[in-house]
Amino acid sequence: MRHIVLVLSTFLFSILGISQESISITYTGNMGVHIIHEQSSVLIDGLHTKYGDDYLFPSKDLVHKINYELKPDAILFTHHHGDHFSSQLSKNYLELNRKAVLFGAHQITKNFTDHRERIFTITTKDYIKQTTKINDFSVSGVKINHAGKRHVSVENVGYIVNFNGKKVLHVGDTNWLEEINLFNQLRLVDESIDIAIIPYWMLLHKNTVELLKKNINPKHVVATHISPKIPPNELVELKRKYPKIYFLTTLDEQIQIPL
Ligand SMILES: [Zn+2]
Repeated sequence: MRHIVLVLSTFLFSILGISQESISITYTGNMGVHIIHEQSSVLIDGLHTKYGDDYLFPSKDLVHKINYELKPDAILFTHHHGDHFSSQLSKNYLELNRKAVLFGAHQITKNFTDHRERIFTITTKDYIKQTTKINDFSVSGVKINHAGKRHVSVENVGYIVNFNGKKVLHVGDTNWLEEINLFNQLRLVDESIDIAIIPYWMLLHKNTVELLKKNINPKHVVATHISPKIPPNELVELKRKYPKIYFLTTLDEQIQIPL
């Protein structure tokens, strides 16, 4: 009997696609994503407050959900700008979740005097990836320059989260930056990236398709940092141009990406 149940449930699961390995991503505003793979989860750029009308930020309810329901194992920040990071919300999170760890460049981690054993600093002096194992996943941080000439002093860090061989890349506020040969130095194309989370302006380059393939070559792309004030026709046009790319625009929306 038990055998029949097992066979039947395996059959059911396979036709329903439940057994298919996947990564689920919940949007928390601007470039904020909560990424779940099996029992593990990380939050990247997910705790910040109002910064201006062009930036979505997690509502009080969503911050509460992060603190008490989603409870990511690690909170990662790409850089210290207010549309990506709040030191107060991060401190609250670490207080409430005593096993959680935090990653960021020095401009982020210098804000924390408590819980030093749970704070990991990524150096941005060169493009060498720095990897730390946390439970059953690993986090690799690497310098990826911030876009824009007035932001050269911003320490922007990209992350590759490796969930048992499935890799999610988040690049923060960067751009293709061909003038400094950025992506050639990063060698992300050798990493077998499954999901790349990028700011949507990287899709506005005239050679986007070629640049994505040559520099990252991900299986899936998720576009973020889309202003709530973007003209609707611009967004429609982008979605039409890139039908396979996921566009995150609504707080707390969830996408399931099969791997
Ligand atoms: Zn920024």
